[in-house]
Amino acid sequence: MFETLSDRLTAVFQRIGNKGRLTEQDVDEAMREVRRALLEADVNYKVVRDFVSAVRERAVGEEVLKALTPAQQVISIVRDELIKILGEERVPLQLAQVPPTIVMVVGLQGSGKTTHVAKIANLLKKEGRRPLMVAADVYRPAAIDQLQTLGGQIDVPVYSEGTKANPVDIAKNAVKLARDRGYTVVLIDTAGRLQIDEPMMQEVERIAEAVKPHEILLVADAMTGQEAVNVAQEFHRRLALTGLVLTKMDGDARGGAALSIRSVVGVPIKYIGTGERIDAVEPFYPDRLASRILGMGDVLTLIERAQAEITEEESRALEEKVLAGQFNFEDFLNQLQQIKRMGPLTQLLEMIPGIGQALRQQQVQISDDEFKHIEAMIFSMTPEERRNPDILKPSRRKRIAAGSGTSVAQVNQLVNQFKQMQKMMAQFGELAGGTGGRRGLR
Ligand code: GDP
Repeated sequence: MFETLSDRLTAVFQRIGNKGRLTEQDVDEAMREVRRALLEADVNYKVVRDFVSAVRERAVGEEVLKALTPAQQVISIVRDELIKILGEERVPLQLAQVPPTIVMVVGLQGSGKTTHVAKIANLLKKEGRRPLMVAADVYRPAAIDQLQTLGGQIDVPVYSEGTKANPVDIAKNAVKLARDRGYTVVLIDTAGRLQIDEPMMQEVERIAEAVKPHEILLVADAMTGQEAVNVAQEFHRRLALTGLVLTKMDGDARGGAALSIRSVVGVPIKYIGTGERIDAVEPFYPDRLASRILGMGDVLTLIERAQAEITEEESRALEEKVLAGQFNFEDFLNQLQQIKRMGPLTQLLEMIPGIGQALRQQQVQISDDEFKHIEAMIFSMTPEERRNPDILKPSRRKRIAAGSGTSVAQVNQLVNQFKQMQKMMAQFGELAGGTGGRRGLR
C-alpha cells in the first residue's frame, strides 16, 4: 500500500532534513518534487495543484523557515494537508435511530462489492450488531452463491429469493423481514456490471427509492486509479452516495485513487479493503493513512488488530507463563497462530514506524512461508517435546526434520533461538519479581 509514493516522499524529506536551515528556494524545490511524486502516483492534477500551493504557502511562512527544525515543520504541514485531502475526520457508518439501518452497496462488477458486503457485516457483528445480508444481484447466480458462502463463513444470514425475483421486491421484503426478526443492519448487495450503464443505474435508483437507505456505499477498486474516481463521480450524480469503500489497497503501490477520490467526489471514504481475507478491511482514518504514506507507520491500527484477534485472557495467560519461565513450544505455536490471524506479516510490519521503508530499501523479502516451516517443525514434535525442548537430542531432531520436510540445521536453529528466547523471558520474569524463573531452563 502506497510503497512507491511513500518512498518518493520520504526521499524528498530526507534531503531537506539534511540541511540545517531552509530557504524559500529549498522549499520550492522540495515542493516541485512532491508535486512530481503525486502526479506519478496518479493523483488528480487539481488535487495536486491545490495541495502543493497550500503546503507551500504555509511552509514559506516566517516561523517555519526560522524554526530550529524547519524540515520537521514542513513534514508536519504536509501531513496536515494530506489529512485534509483524505477527509480530515473519520466518518463512521451512520446507524439509524430506529433499527434496522439500511445500507445499500453499489459498484462495478469485480470491484470487491460482494466481498466487502460480507467484510462490513463481519465488522458490525463483532461490534455486537445483528446484520442481515441481502442478495439483490439476480443476474449472476454465482453472486448469490458467493454471498451465501461468505455468510456461512462469518455466520451472518443471507436473504435471497433466487434469480427469478425482482431486485426491488427482494430489497423491500428483506427490510420487512429484518424488522420482524430484529436484525439491526440490512446490507443490500446490488448488481454490478462491467461498466456503468443506464439499466443498472435505473435499477439501483429504484431500489433506493423503495427502501430509502440510510447509507449508500460505493465500492471502488483502488487499483484502477482515476477510473475509480470517475466511477464514483458518476454514481454520486445519480444516487447521492453517503460513503466510499476503497478496495484492493494492498495491491495499490501508488495511491492515486485514495488521495483523489474524497476531494474530487466530496464523499467520505468509510472503509478500506486490504486483502482477500474476510478480515482484511479497516475503518478509514485520514490521519492514520497520512502517517502511513509518510512512512510513519500506523501503530493504532496495529494495536486494534491485535486487540481484535487476541483476547484478554489469552494475553494474561501468556504473560503469566512468560513471567514464570514456563513458555514452551506449545505457547510459541499459539503465538504464531495469533499473529497470523492479524494479517500478512509484511502488512503488519508496514504499520511499525520506519520499518516498511527500511525493509524495502534493503530489499528484504519477508514471507509468511517462514511461519509455515516453523509450524511444520513444531507440529512434528511430540507433545512431550513441545513442553520440554531439553529432551530434543540429535535423533529426535533428525526425526523432526524428516517429518517436517526441513533440515536438521533448521531444527537446530529453531531450538537454539527458542532457548535464547526462553532465557530472555526468564530474566524478564526475575526482573518483574517472578518466582518460577528457573523451571523451563535447567
Ligand atoms: P464484485 O464482483 O464487485 O462483487 O467483486 P468480488 O467481491 O467478487 O471481488 C472480486 C475479486 O476481488 C475477488 O477475487 C476478491 O477476493 C478480490 N478482492 C476483493 N477485495 C479485495 C481487496 O481488498 N484486496 C484484494 N487483494 N483482493 C480483493
